[in-house]
Amino acid sequence: MPMVRFDGVSKSYPGGKEALSKVSFELARGEFAFLTGHSGAGKSTLLKLMLQMERPSKGQVFVDGDCVNTMKSSQVPFLRRKVGVVFQNHQLLFDRTVYDNVAMPLLIAGYQPAEAARRVRAALDSVGLLGFERRNPIELSGGEQQRVGIARAVVNKPQLLLADEPTGNLDPELSEEIMKLFLRFQQVGVTVLIATHDIALIERMGHRRLILDHGTLHDSGTLHDSGPRA
Ligand code: ADP
Ligand code: ADP
Repeated sequence: MPMVRFDGVSKSYPGGKEALSKVSFELARGEFAFLTGHSGAGKSTLLKLMLQMERPSKGQVFVDGDCVNTMKSSQVPFLRRKVGVVFQNHQLLFDRTVYDNVAMPLLIAGYQPAEAARRVRAALDSVGLLGFERRNPIELSGGEQQRVGIARAVVNKPQLLLADEPTGNLDPELSEEIMKLFLRFQQVGVTVLIATHDIALIERMGHRRLILDHGTLHDSGTLHDSGPRA
């Protein structure tokens, strides 16, 4: 079973034109792919459909075998727990410590403080920020802040990691470091999909590319098997 499957997905916003048009693709478990396309091509919409932040007008979206668009709202918190999300503007709280920012998903999920503390340390370690617990994100550089956002996204040990323009505000060198971090999560089995318009960077890195053009998907294909087709 693939980690993600889009089956003939179209999305129209009320009063708007079609943001996605008959999009079908699969992401195999443990796969690493980029999602590219011009501004307004539908990248954010595609990501939101996987979290039930939007619903398709047509077609179906599956994550880990579950149909997301028909999922009951009571199931959505469980869905979101297995999907980590990194945003461009990282959405950190500047009136909280790094520790509190990273621990937030665990507290929402009801972890005990001792287990939460262990996981926060592991997550900070995985992004090279061990020892930053008591710092305030506002004191950190842009690259460090983005790492805190990534630590928060992975602290639940998600099977699927989504990122929406995670290097949008970073210079090329820092962007490459952040992308290497995402690759390390893939190496421990996480499925990773990164929306970006940084074409130069992703051409250097290789990997499968899903290209959106005005809502239509073109797949660069993948060098390895992306799972059986239905
Ligand atoms: P991208 O992330 O590639 O920039 P989006 O998914 O944000 O693309 O947007 C795709 C299209 O859908 C754009 O034309 C955008 O204006 C439109 N759109 C996105 N969100 C909404 C919304 N909430 N209401 C109406 N139109 C929207
Ligand atoms: P364990 O519970 O196996 O001891 P940890 O809680 O120490 O593992 O977490 C190891 C770190 O690996 C996580 O904090 C996280 O940074 C990273 N990670 C994220 N997602 C996954 C995943 N799906 N599988 C394995 N490691 C992950």
